[in-house]
Amino acid sequence: MKTPVPTLGNPQNTIEVLKKYNFTFQKKYGQNFLIDTHVLDKIIAAAEITKDDFVLEIGPGIGTMTQYLARAAGKVAAVEIDKALIPILQDTLSGYDNVTVINEDVLKLDIAKLVNEENGGKPVKVVANLPYYITTPIIMGLFEKHVPIESITVMVQKEVADRMQVGPGTKDYGALSLAVQFYADPYIVANVPPNCFMPRPKVGSAVIRLTCHDEPPVQVDDEKLMFKIIRASFNQRRKTLANGLNNSPELSIPKETIIASIEELGKGASVRGEALTLEEFAALSNIIGRKLQDLREENLR
Ligand code: SAM
Repeated sequence: MKTPVPTLGNPQNTIEVLKKYNFTFQKKYGQNFLIDTHVLDKIIAAAEITKDDFVLEIGPGIGTMTQYLARAAGKVAAVEIDKALIPILQDTLSGYDNVTVINEDVLKLDIAKLVNEENGGKPVKVVANLPYYITTPIIMGLFEKHVPIESITVMVQKEVADRMQVGPGTKDYGALSLAVQFYADPYIVANVPPNCFMPRPKVGSAVIRLTCHDEPPVQVDDEKLMFKIIRASFNQRRKTLANGLNNSPELSIPKETIIASIEELGKGASVRGEALTLEEFAALSNIIGRKLQDLREENLR
């Protein structure tokens, strides 16, 4: 007789599945599987999933959270890089007909295309216990590629969750904080200790929900230029904003234009990038953009 597929979420059933498939954890893929039903319930509740929702899960592992998502959502697409997990997922998700497992590296997958094909381009909800080694590229990739997303509810390293929601004047404030706040409204749902995972991670974790804005909270003429300016400002945190922008290989703005723009923003020459708010970065990038345009026009004359 076929062994019944267990409902996942507790340590015993996770161990049973791992043993059945003789699975060995791959450290390089950031594999820390959730084994706490309370945490899983909290994630699903915070994501506010209904049967109308299409959910994208990144890194389903053995399918623990996927089972919860499949019960709550209309449809689930789960993207998993580790091919050793695919037969396990086929087994643990065999009772659900609304889940598609995709064996791909999420960083290489065209997610906007997937969302268009699977959900007719309507906004999706992203829910995941993310692999910590690529948290920032995953989140930035979703934002920068303008994938239609309603919200992102994810488990991340505690320190990264903190970085996402702070403002100027704190050591954690940086390019990630500004990007997250430009695209979404961040809210820390819960802190999660290492004993809720198997194996236990060395760091504390937190669930954060990013509710995506319909319209950005600031008016920016050139989003790409603003993010280049933000990255340049934080690449050399201890330098003045003017030097940070001047030294950036990504930007080529004449020094006089940089100085005049910072002055027009109403800031002193010694201001550091880490002191600027999102509104100020937006205003600065609009000023710089206009000055660069004037220079181009002058050169054509
Ligand atoms: N969701 C499962 C859970 O909560 O028990 C597993 C979470 S574990 C922290 C991260 C998962 O992401 C692992 O299954 C890992 O193999 C997968 N993963 C790592 N890198 C990935 C990538 N580049 N693309 C897709 N999945 C990836």
